[in-house]
Parts: sequence; structure tokens; C-alpha cells
Amino acid sequence: MKTYQNYIGGRFTDASTRNVVDVFNPASEEQISTVADSSVEDVREAVEAAASAQLKWERLPAIQRAGHMRRIASGVREKAEHIARVISEEQGKPLGLARVEVGFAAEYIDYMAEWARRIEGEIVTSDRPNENIFVFRKPIGVVAGISAWNFPFFLAVRKMAPALVTGNTIIVKPSDQTPNNTVELAKVVAEAGLPAGVFNVVTGSGSSCGKALTTHPKVGLITFTGSVATGARIMAAAANNVTKVNLELGGKAPAIVLEDADLDLAVQAIKASRVTNTGQICNCAERVYVDRKIVDAFTAKLCATMKTTTYGDPLEDSSIDMGPLMNRHELERVAGMVDRAVSDGAKVLLGGKRGNRTKGFYYEATVLGNCRQEMDIVRTEIFGPVVPIVVVDGLDQAIEYANDSELGLTSSIYTGNLNAAMRACNELRFGETYVNRENFEALQGFHAGWRKSGIGGADGRHGLYEFMNTHVVYMQHKGAAA
Ligand code: NAD
Repeated sequence: MKTYQNYIGGRFTDASTRNVVDVFNPASEEQISTVADSSVEDVREAVEAAASAQLKWERLPAIQRAGHMRRIASGVREKAEHIARVISEEQGKPLGLARVEVGFAAEYIDYMAEWARRIEGEIVTSDRPNENIFVFRKPIGVVAGISAWNFPFFLAVRKMAPALVTGNTIIVKPSDQTPNNTVELAKVVAEAGLPAGVFNVVTGSGSSCGKALTTHPKVGLITFTGSVATGARIMAAAANNVTKVNLELGGKAPAIVLEDADLDLAVQAIKASRVTNTGQICNCAERVYVDRKIVDAFTAKLCATMKTTTYGDPLEDSSIDMGPLMNRHELERVAGMVDRAVSDGAKVLLGGKRGNRTKGFYYEATVLGNCRQEMDIVRTEIFGPVVPIVVVDGLDQAIEYANDSELGLTSSIYTGNLNAAMRACNELRFGETYVNRENFEALQGFHAGWRKSGIGGADGRHGLYEFMNTHVVYMQHKGAAA
């Protein structure tokens, strides 16, 4: 049995508590490791380490901070295969996808390092004589990064890289379902020679370790990726110290398929949305609105392609499309949602049942017809390989239904009509819209949800600025002699 330690102040350390979290392989249901369920005391130690390292890190020229980051990116690439296996083992995604996750994470670190020479302030005209107004951008200080299990390695990097290039120090708390790969990241960081305390990892449950991080007065920013319910809890906890929050929460992405869409393209992209990572992706198509005139043709094509989906144990078979769902709770939840949809009148056109394997939390690729806007399966995040189809009469109704959601992360539309696409871009009320392509955000974009999907966002220039405070200086100087 493996054990993974915390990484605090540049050292791998045992936690002060005997409480542990057991980590399981969702494909085999076997225990892989134990990690500490870090206590308030452990979190305090990590925050103190990050706080003591921060000023020196901030004073280092940004280009030197970037140099450290590039060494981390190289270390990630060197260990990519090992890290990918650790991810697959604890999260259940196919090895090929885990390799993509690690490669993308390394690219993300390099991309954020490139900002070192591009973090800019402003000089603003003053109303007074002999005065300049400077707007500086400065690091917030100590950042707490709390993340979800679905792309655990990438999410840790998505929090670490912008924090580091902007001169912050960080404590990452990975999901208690998938902590091992984040400790692997800490090993890379240690080997890359990052100054002690700049990057720290504490493992543990949300209720103990997570809560201690969100209530610590020295934490200046909590950047969180996870569910809406936890996001709301974190906001409430952060209110005590008026700590800034950056929340990347759930999604319920609508995909609109109009009568003039390229159906093969739409079907492939929607299948990818539901099958990649077994449908456990915040930005992927969760409900499909199809024009009545093409619904039969679309549904037949979608069922035919979804039917080819293979699943299995990612470490046994590298050719599979899907691994298991994350855990038994997720399997029961997805199965329960489909069963309730069927009792509400949905028709199972494909799948609709648990996978046929003796071990592991598998659910078959599923297509549901006859769905209606008011059904729970159309309104609540599924986070599994299930496509509910709702028939619509034209673009107006599709946009109305798409916007009728508490969640506003991403959306997509498939059409050959420029006017329809442009109207959708103007009228869809979401942080992202993908036109005639699969949902997958770029590192130079800005991944930010509307409504209950979050506050603030990640990636690109706007994501970087989430990690900075502004500081305005009014500078009087002696003017020219009158
Ligand atoms: P979760 O909310 O259950 O847990 C996320 C993290 O929060 C974990 O590390 C957990 O230990 C911690 N946590 C739980 N309670 C806490 C508390 N009271 N205080 C502090 N920390 C606490 O989410 P999950 O099940 O890990 O992830 C799935 C969710 O994440 C889905 O809703 C998905 O849409 C969302 N997600 C969103 C994005 C995005 O970019 N918007 C990306 C990936 C996943």
C-alpha cells in the first residue's frame, strides 16, 4: 500500500494527525493508497510556510519566476508516463486521455510562464497638475487552490501556474478522491528546485482540511474548482475574513442542433462530449436541443456512433473509450437520474444501464429520447455518459430552453447558417459558446461561468489577473517652472 505525504515548506512531511483518507481505484475497487486527512494544525503550518516565502518570491524578477516554472514543466514532461498512470489508476480515465492531461498541464505551465514579461499596469491621466496616476498589478499573497477529481493534475496546475508567475505562493488541496497525482506534482516541484514554501500540498477531506484553508485569515485568494454546493459553502466560509473567491463550478451545457447542421460533425462532437472522461467534464454537452425536422436523422446517427463506445479498465486495455465513473456514489447517482427520467417519460434509445463487469463503477453510453425541458435530467448536471435529447421548433425555442438554466458555463450550436450562429452568440447567456466544434476550452481563452457556474474564471490574460490586486498610486511631482 502506498502512502503519500504532505509537501510543506519544501519538505515531504507526515501530518500531525493519524486520520487518513483511503484512495481507491474505481476500475478494480481496490485500495491504492492512504493520504493524511490533514488537520487545522497541518493547514496552519502550510499557510505559514507559504506566507513566509511570499515576499521573497514576489521580489524575484518575474522572468526568474518563469525560469523556475519552465523547469517544473520539463520535469512534468520527463515524468509524464508515470504521472499519467497514477492519474488513470486513481481517477479511472483511459491512459491516452491521462497522457493528454499531463501534456496539456506542462503546456499550461509554459504558457503562464510566457506572461512573465507581459504583466502590465496602466498610467492614467490625472485631473490635477503635476500628477501621474499609476495602476500597478501586484500579487495577492497566499493563494489556496482547492480542486475537483475529474482532471486532477491539470486542475492543480491551473491553480499553481498563474499564482506563481504573478508572485503569489500557493497551497493546493487536491480532491480526497484523487490526491496521489498532486503529490507527484510536488515531487517534480521539489526536484526542480523551487524555493521552499512557494508551492505546498496538503491532502485531506473538504470538511477538515478544505475548511481550515478557507477560514485561514492569511489566505488572500481561494481558487476553487468543484460543485455548486461546495462553492456556496466556500463563499460562506470565506465571508468571515472577506477573502476573495474564484469559483469554477458545475455546468449544464446545452448543444443546439439546427436543421441545416452538418449532422456527422454534430454527432461526433456530442459523442466526444459525453464519452470523454466518461462524461465527467464540466463544460461538455449535457442536454441536446434538436430541431424537429431533423431529429430522427440526428438520433439515428447519434445512437449508431454512441453504440461503438467501448469501456473497461484503463490500465488493462489502452484501446477503450471510457473508464469507470469516479466512485460508487457517482454510479448510483447517474443510474438514479436515468431511472427517474425513464419514469418521467424519457425513452432509452441506447444503454440506460450499468456496465457488464464484475468490478468497477461502469455505466454504459446512453441516449435518452422524449425528454422534456422540465425533467430533472435536462436541468441538473449529470456528469456521466448520458445524452438527453429534447425536440425544439427552431432557433427561438432552442435559445429560450438553453438559457432556462441556473448554470451558465458553456454552450454550443451546430448550424451552417451564419445568421443563426451569430444570433446564438448574441443571445446565449453562457461564459462560452462553441460553434460547430466540440466543447474544449483553450488555455489562452477565459473559462468563466455565469449564474451558479461560478465567479471569476481561469486561463488567458483575464485568468491571470484574478491572481492580482490593483494598487493605484497618485504621484505628485514638481512641474516645470511657471
Ligand atoms: P466537490 O465540490 O465535491 O469537491 C471539490 C473539492 O472541494 C474537493 O477537493 C473537496 O475535498 C473540497 N471540499 C468539499 N467540501 C469542502 C468545504 N466545505 N470546504 C473546502 N473544501 C471542500 O466537487 P467534485 O465532486 O470533486 O467535482 C465535480 C464538480 O466539479 C462538478 O460539479 C463539475 O462540474 C465541477 N467542475 C467544474 C469545473 C470548471 O472549470 N467549472 C472543472 C471541473 C469540475
